[in-house]
Amino acid sequence: MSTSPSRGATVHDLVGIGFGPSNLALAIAIEEHNRAAPQHALDAVFLERQERFGWHRGMLLDGATMQVSFLKDLVTMRDPASRFSFLSYLSERGRLADFINRKSLFPFRIEFHDYLEWAADHVAHLVRYDAEVTDVAPVRGESGVDALEVVVGGQDGELAQVHRARNVAIAAGIRPSLPSNCTPTGRIWHNHDLLARLAELPPGEPKRFVVVGAGQSAAETTEYLHRHFPGCEVCAVFSRYGYSPSDDTAFANRIFDPEAVDHFFQAPDDVKRRLLEYHRNTNYSVVDPELIDDLYRRTYQERVRGEQRLRMLNACHVVEVQDFADCVRAVVEFLPTGERRELHADALVYATGYEPVDPLQLLGATAAYCQRTPDGVVAVERDYRVATTEDMRCGIYVQGATEHSHGITSTLLSNTAVRVGEILSSVLARTSPQQACSPPTSASRAAGPAPVPARGGGTARTAEATTDRP
Ligand code: NAP
Repeated sequence: MSTSPSRGATVHDLVGIGFGPSNLALAIAIEEHNRAAPQHALDAVFLERQERFGWHRGMLLDGATMQVSFLKDLVTMRDPASRFSFLSYLSERGRLADFINRKSLFPFRIEFHDYLEWAADHVAHLVRYDAEVTDVAPVRGESGVDALEVVVGGQDGELAQVHRARNVAIAAGIRPSLPSNCTPTGRIWHNHDLLARLAELPPGEPKRFVVVGAGQSAAETTEYLHRHFPGCEVCAVFSRYGYSPSDDTAFANRIFDPEAVDHFFQAPDDVKRRLLEYHRNTNYSVVDPELIDDLYRRTYQERVRGEQRLRMLNACHVVEVQDFADCVRAVVEFLPTGERRELHADALVYATGYEPVDPLQLLGATAAYCQRTPDGVVAVERDYRVATTEDMRCGIYVQGATEHSHGITSTLLSNTAVRVGEILSSVLARTSPQQACSPPTSASRAAGPAPVPARGGGTARTAEATTDRP
């Protein structure tokens, strides 16, 4: 642990770890604040290990649409007049009228990804790509830990870069979840890598794919493989009797409203658990009803024709998988009878969901200052700041891994614009404590963060400190 800050090193107001949609939205909120109140500008930098912006590229399947309204883009719920809205993007791309004529709230995923890249380009000056964070080290001053050193690289003998910060915002995303006994290989994948792995398949028409799971990813993967490989059998294996529809109805959708976060946060633990359980089917292990109908229509049509190549192995689970040079062998058990069948396939795709990355894993020695709940998850305040020991003077903000405290919207886009406004308000209020405001309410959210003076005549803007820390 460092004990004395090196002289002259920049101390950023905020260092963002990860640059997916959540921290992209935060970068935009900071950029907009800095333009509106340049005298109170925040000095922020975002670190991303990918070489360029990318969000679930392996699932940018042609024809797949977003599951969330375009109005829940990076900014609109926080500031409907922002120039970083999806509508601004459409206008710049010359497709505004065409999009309106399409009469859908749900853009294509490829299109929405293009919007995210467009927005990321506009704040590129705040981002360092190819920058993998390997440690976050506390720096002690007289009154406690008054800075954090966010270390990039430094592995395998390379020089480490250190970014010193008063606040960090961790948005490390979600990672693919695989069955415990599964090791990915050239023929056994998670759907997260679908397009990249398909591109690596040996030449020649595949004969069979197996897709495991019954969520949106599994259904989209099944549909895509069936459509793109017309000579190929696709076996969907899942333990439910049939795909279950996602609940996208209006009253249930209110669980994603900004107000619902307030309600959820203050609810007792047993109420939190019940709310998550009641509304699991808005998000987990469910499929868009139109896609369910589409897949059913295809299987029925094939039955009429007498040539079944889309096969639903429902109420089944995979009990054994073996990887061979030229195929993968899966043994599938029918749960009601225990009957087993063997499938040889070109590839087996696990569409078995995702899990949030534990933000404290990224924090190195700084994690010792952070509190966990009795359930072992990170304790997070309403403003998304990790609860810490008193001598931690820096803010450690978390986006994503807060479903247990802030509700089901945490890992989704729906509340991102509002959430980053709340985080910015908190950073600004803590930057200048005499201006500290009460936690943002639904009414104050729409107005965006209130500008407050920066400390001591503005922020330092020297180059990053580069050290040879291992
Ligand atoms: P998910 O909803 O968590 O579904 C995971 C599926 O895998 C479930 O059917 C689950 O079965 C099954 N599963 C989990 N572990 C398993 C195991 N060990 N063996 C066999 N099956 C297992 O994950 P997802 O489909 O990836 O969706 C995640 C999120 O991404 C959702 O919010 C979804 O809406 C979103 N998404 C969006 C789009 C889009 O915008 N177009 C596309 C894809 C995904 P059980 O139900 O039995 O647990």
